[in-house]
Amino acid sequence: MIAKVPPVHRRPGDRETACNRRLTFASFKAPIGAGIWGGIMELSHRITGISEDVNAGWEVFMRSRQLIAEGHDILELTIGDHDIRTDPSILRRMYDAALGGHTGYAAIPGTPGLRATVAARVQERTGVPTTSDNILITPGGQSALFGAHVAVCDPGDTALYCDPYYATYPGTLRSAGTHPIAIAAHARDMFQPRAAAIAAHAAGAKSLLINSPNNPTGVIYSRETLAGIADVCTRHDLWLISDEVYDTQVWDGHHISPRSLPGMADRTLVVGSMSKSHAMTGSRCGWLVAPAPVVEYLTTLAIHTTYGVAGFVQDAAQFALAQGRPLEDKISAPFRRRRDIATRLLAEQNVLHLLPSMGAMYLLLDVRSTGLSGNEFADKLLMHHHISVMPGESFGASAAGHIRLAMTLEDTMLETAITRLIGFAHQVARAR
Ligand code: PMP
Repeated sequence: MIAKVPPVHRRPGDRETACNRRLTFASFKAPIGAGIWGGIMELSHRITGISEDVNAGWEVFMRSRQLIAEGHDILELTIGDHDIRTDPSILRRMYDAALGGHTGYAAIPGTPGLRATVAARVQERTGVPTTSDNILITPGGQSALFGAHVAVCDPGDTALYCDPYYATYPGTLRSAGTHPIAIAAHARDMFQPRAAAIAAHAAGAKSLLINSPNNPTGVIYSRETLAGIADVCTRHDLWLISDEVYDTQVWDGHHISPRSLPGMADRTLVVGSMSKSHAMTGSRCGWLVAPAPVVEYLTTLAIHTTYGVAGFVQDAAQFALAQGRPLEDKISAPFRRRRDIATRLLAEQNVLHLLPSMGAMYLLLDVRSTGLSGNEFADKLLMHHHISVMPGESFGASAAGHIRLAMTLEDTMLETAITRLIGFAHQVARAR
């Protein structure tokens, strides 16, 4: 039961959000102080304004989880969590580290061993001189995204990001106190953001957030795209925050870290993570690569917020990274294989258009020829065929009319899901 909530006072011009209207969202079951006052004290605009609605964009996913809880068989292609678990060798190292005593407070910017290992990996793969002083270990890439924006933006500063985007971006940027502005990348440009579009919003902005390989599109930004972005950042004095958590999932072409482009190392913060590369989503271990003074300041932020990452998790991450490419390839191999399966199946029809999938564990399908929006398509597909996918609209206006499939089902189940999905699309298209 939601207790009576006093009206939230908004400043003139403030957006009204579902959250500051009334605290009715599902995760807020026990309002603070409900037992004492039968209501709650006013909360900050900063917290109530993070998200329009905590469930926004995740409705299909929530419904799918609800149906599963009720005992229905659902083919779930929604979130980017692997169908395999963390490799036993990594878990064994984690267990040994914990038993060996690494259970107290760990070094806050990261253990010397893990920082050095990440630095060496970054230097080897990008050619940019990188030392431990450039590395901050964080509780996942999500925390690094937040920290990066706190480091370079003051409250109210404009922070740019590209649309389509990973669903948490706008809320993360608002959490950091910034004013987020989306820059549209278009399907007609294969979702490569155009420098001119970024430049049009760059005056007065502080930062630009990009993501390649991209979630949700599966696009890898070309050298030309990145050179254009670097040029805009330099001309408009923007910090570039480059989210590269899918850097081990490359199917076509090459991943280029923009930190390696001329003059960019001093203005680029790179977000990395063990989540996708090593199937360690639950371990919460990522990093930020940044100029050393930024790492120092963010260590101060970590002292006052997270207090670092569990030492045994860091030891396990160090072990995992030391295995190099063979382990990363083993973990990404199923997605490469499934991407080939999906590409073959989708090539045999012409109702759904698959955006060429270059990287990341997702497929973006254009469903516009069915006459349905991404939301409607995902909704009906779940209700009538028990397949759950993410509507493109969850990832920004530019991905409207699309759906995103996470390739996180075992091969034959994925094949079944895509075959049924194609059948559904044909049925809808025929009925138009
Ligand atoms: N960036 C992108 C593009 C993502 O897709 C995700 C997770 N899905 C993250 C960052 C955050 O990942 P984590 O916090 O698990 O490292």
